[in-house]
Amino acid sequence: MGKIDKSVRLFKEAQSLLPGGVDSPVRAFTAVGGQPLFIERGEGPYLFDIDGNRYIDYVLSWGPLILGHSHPRVVSALREQVARGTSYGAPSPLELELAQLIASFMPNLQMLRFVNSGTEATMSVLRLARAFTERKKIIKFQGGYHGHADMLLVQAGSGVATLGLPDSPGVTSEAVQHTLVAAYNNLESVERVFEDNAGDIAAVIVEPVSGNMGLVPPVPGFLDGLRALTDKNNALLIFDEVMTGFRVNPGGAQTLYKVRPDLTALGKVIGGGLPVGAYGGRRDIMEMVAPVGPVYQAGTLSGNPLAMRAGIETLQELKEPGVWEGLEAMANKLVTGLTQAARAAGVRVVTHRVGTMFGMFFNDHPVTDWESASRSDAERFSRFFHAVLDGGVYMAPSQFEAAFLSTAHDEAIIDTTIDIAEKAFKLLSVA
Ligand SMILES: *Cc1c(COP(=O)(O)O)cnc(C)c1O
Repeated sequence: MGKIDKSVRLFKEAQSLLPGGVDSPVRAFTAVGGQPLFIERGEGPYLFDIDGNRYIDYVLSWGPLILGHSHPRVVSALREQVARGTSYGAPSPLELELAQLIASFMPNLQMLRFVNSGTEATMSVLRLARAFTERKKIIKFQGGYHGHADMLLVQAGSGVATLGLPDSPGVTSEAVQHTLVAAYNNLESVERVFEDNAGDIAAVIVEPVSGNMGLVPPVPGFLDGLRALTDKNNALLIFDEVMTGFRVNPGGAQTLYKVRPDLTALGKVIGGGLPVGAYGGRRDIMEMVAPVGPVYQAGTLSGNPLAMRAGIETLQELKEPGVWEGLEAMANKLVTGLTQAARAAGVRVVTHRVGTMFGMFFNDHPVTDWESASRSDAERFSRFFHAVLDGGVYMAPSQFEAAFLSTAHDEAIIDTTIDIAEKAFKLLSVA
């Protein structure tokens, strides 16, 4: 990495006007020290900072950019679309087209509603679940992040965990009094919550592959067990696939693990890098959403034509023959290479990969839940992070974040990444 003088100057200035100099906390590098880089442009697999340094990007805007930065197909569609207007406040054919595309990948979404972020999607889907079941309580998992709605800011993983905030001031105890927390990958803990709250649970909301405490896959039987427990208790099962949708499999975790949720929240990839969220699922439930039903939910910019176009192009590209298979093969090559490089250097890490998402914990023991994830070595991660950054690889500045691959990352880029990581692991092993 070269000089970052311009980033240093801008960060100083930004901090006086924007809290922490950023618009989302994990961007501030708090967990790893140092300071964030200010980005001038993204191109394919690369980010370029304002000092002219180039980085291979494995954050990819925290997941959405599955085709990499400024993919020609997305860019030209957006150019064409922007000339036709940026928002209509009325239906357009694009919403139907994207909805049909999503449903073709995820047949469980019999109906869906577009919103503007993942936060909006989970907030709205829980309102719907409570209305449908006429119950108040919800179950979430320790280390599960579902956006920043008040009722969900309880033991919420990554951003919150990274900052060491137990919860957030400003969230009232009343706002979270109906939010119950169970342990991920632990069906007994879910069963206990159901027993203690018999007849009161509206829904279980889960990241089917947990991606906000680092990447933690479900153990065999966990998702099936949640389906069985929710069925038994007449509660709804909600998959928060904001991150995993079109990431762990083109059809999301529900397709990969063959478990049918009642409702699903989406975001990230379906917007192709523009702000979008969506929620959907069983027709009998979705028909409760206004204006068909009484559950209110609205949005000035919802179904925004630019966002719809970016999403359509992105999902269509993923449908091209061989694209997904190639992407997953590259992800496998990268994670295998990283794991071998760590082992060769005698550095103990736990690596996980599901589809095009992966994660690495500096941890001697298996990581299956928030408890085990949180015992990872923060100091080692921080040194590794800065060493690879110096080498030109941009990883998420927290080991409690998942990493992502795009179709723009080719074999040569992955080899380069593995070389840089190998040097970083060696630095750790001598220290
Ligand atoms: C990112 C994320 C959200 C929140 O989405 P935003 O668009 O940031 O509001 C919700 N759930 C999960 C699983 C996520 O990864």
